[in-house]
Amino acid sequence: MRDPRYDILFEPMKIGPVTSKNRFYQVPHCTGSGAQRPRILAGLRDVKAEGGWGVVNTEYCSVHPSFDDPPHPCASLWDDRDIKAHALMTEKVHAHGALAGVELCLGGARMANLETREVSMSSVSMPNLAGNPFQTRAMDKQDIKDVRRWHRNAALRAKEAEFDLVYVYATHGYLLSQFMSPTMNTRSDEYGGVLENRIRLVREIIEDTKEAVGDKMAVAVRFSAETNGGYDGGDGNPMPGETEDMFGILGELPDLWDININDYSVEMGLSRFVQEGALEPYIKSIKSMTSKPVVSVGRFTSPDTMVSQIKRGIVDFIGAARPSIADPFLPKKIEEGRLEDIRECIGCNICYMGDGKGVPIRCTQNPTMSEEWRRGWHPEKIQPKRSDDSVLIIGAGPAGLEAAHALGKRGYNVLLAEATRDLGGRVKKEAQLPGLSEWIRVRDYRVQQIDKMDHVEIFRESKMSAEQVLDIGADHIAIATGATWRRDGYGANALGKLPQISQEANIYSPDDIMSGLIPEGPVVVYDDDHYYMGTVIAEAIRRSGVAVTLVTPEDKISTWGYYTYDRWRAQTKLMEMGVDLVVSQTLSSFDGAKVALSCNYTGVSKVIKCSSLVLVTARQPNDTLYQELSAVLSNGSAAKPKSLKRIGDCEAPAIIAAAVYSGHRYARHLEEIIDTDNPLKHDRVFYEDT
Ligand code: ADP
Ligand code: SF4
Repeated sequence: MRDPRYDILFEPMKIGPVTSKNRFYQVPHCTGSGAQRPRILAGLRDVKAEGGWGVVNTEYCSVHPSFDDPPHPCASLWDDRDIKAHALMTEKVHAHGALAGVELCLGGARMANLETREVSMSSVSMPNLAGNPFQTRAMDKQDIKDVRRWHRNAALRAKEAEFDLVYVYATHGYLLSQFMSPTMNTRSDEYGGVLENRIRLVREIIEDTKEAVGDKMAVAVRFSAETNGGYDGGDGNPMPGETEDMFGILGELPDLWDININDYSVEMGLSRFVQEGALEPYIKSIKSMTSKPVVSVGRFTSPDTMVSQIKRGIVDFIGAARPSIADPFLPKKIEEGRLEDIRECIGCNICYMGDGKGVPIRCTQNPTMSEEWRRGWHPEKIQPKRSDDSVLIIGAGPAGLEAAHALGKRGYNVLLAEATRDLGGRVKKEAQLPGLSEWIRVRDYRVQQIDKMDHVEIFRESKMSAEQVLDIGADHIAIATGATWRRDGYGANALGKLPQISQEANIYSPDDIMSGLIPEGPVVVYDDDHYYMGTVIAEAIRRSGVAVTLVTPEDKISTWGYYTYDRWRAQTKLMEMGVDLVVSQTLSSFDGAKVALSCNYTGVSKVIKCSSLVLVTARQPNDTLYQELSAVLSNGSAAKPKSLKRIGDCEAPAIIAAAVYSGHRYARHLEEIIDTDNPLKHDRVFYEDT
């Protein structure tokens, strides 16, 4: 059972009129589902509450069509019809004795209202902060009255939906931040100018909310510890001056302070760039400035760190978004003394991608996230096996390991054969690259779980041929042999005509760099993959002192890194390291001494002298074994297994989260009847007239 050192984490905590059963607090976080998929959200929050989180919050929740954020899916409480959707969640959260909170949101210049076409509003008429060519209307007194009323009405609806806690969202550059900012708020009336005026709207909205629902609901304020509560342009410098003064005025008004910083790249920093507990320097003095409970985040997965945060007076609640996504049962596992079962977040931010793409949140470590309702998957429970059949899995990368782990939990006898001595496949290799060491948790969690199961056996250094596979005579075979980076330049921008590459030239792939080879400089890294690999490889080579130029056909480096917040930090780092960045250029040829590039716009060619070329373009599925087995089986082999499947990168090379998901789905579906016409439930919201 629980180690008494962690008792403090399980103390009940009062938040105004309500009490949380413990200090585990799931802060509001994006889900990619918002108002569109209430059942998916109720499902994922249900398991978080079941997993022991004392407080479970929604994502940002718009109070009126004037604050609408497509393509980012936010929740809504625009009218009474929205109440039902939220009640789905509060009922489930309450069933586990947890508190449910809602983060009401006023968007301002960060939202262009592209769907509703209402005019966006802010303190002054300013450009849209998300890059849309829509300027805001400067709010007049009537607008201010309207906004206060809309927020108040949304709080009343939240009460009707049986939320226990309601937020005033005064950070992350949204409307209230814009009012607080001395640079953005240049009004000359009582809502602009001196600090007391700039925080007037926040203060009024806190007071309105307290007055409307404060008898039964706790009022939380999400607030930035750095700068002035305004947008800081992302430099993340702690500037306590004005923050301190604002606290002097607001400190005792709410029932709880949720403290973060505006700079997402630190607040939800990638493990590649930002360590656990990175907010501490920003928030450490906050608690001494208020008697109200304080929550903040730090990608905390270690209970010792959590206890230390509380004992040292940094926070009262352990806030978590990502740790609660990677392991909804984190509190329960600490409570039950099962620390080795914690599925630790790896800090990759794939979970954030759903917000940018407008799709349900997913997680590299937790393949069941967002699948609780639509596929009936639970992060800790899985249906028992259907028979005593045996399963042979080839390849111990993320797909093979997850399949073996989940099948083992179902009770199947599993043999997992891995060609090399090392387990982990691509994560073993990628975790050796700069900044990616935490990614090894994908392997470690699964190996640790498999080690507990006698009926799952791992065979290392067992490169399997088709004949050997069939000789084993397993009932089911899953091929999880991964993929290999290509060396011919084939990629998204070279689907037909490949670049001309001399066979004698120094050509490298990410697999070569990951195996420890350092190319002779100067080096061109050509990135037609557009996620993290190109920038990480460039960094790895540059670290060895070799001159590196990173070339991409896209207009920006690491374009897909936009969705995970890799892009900005990666570019800064590479520029600081002296890596040259060349964009909008497609590779035409490499002769061993120079690359020829072609401008995507003008076709004008450009030459860069280099001794080596690293191609980060596309991968080739390692599906030879699968194809050979398929051929043997279709020829009517005597030892015919009941099923043969390829999973993970061997089926379709993709992100690690997709490989884990693929392995998990294989395990869930084995020997089950799956209706391929309707493989999952489709969340739909109906409009009701009354
Ligand atoms: P995924 O991401 O789909 O899990 P990985 O590339 O990470 O794929 O892992 C594939 C694993 O399969 C690697 O560890 C590799 O060594 C192993 N492998 C490839 N071919 C064979 C084979 N014929 N027999 C056993 N293991 C293999
Ligand atoms: Fe952590 Fe990555 Fe999962 Fe997000 S997707 S919770 S960062 S492991």
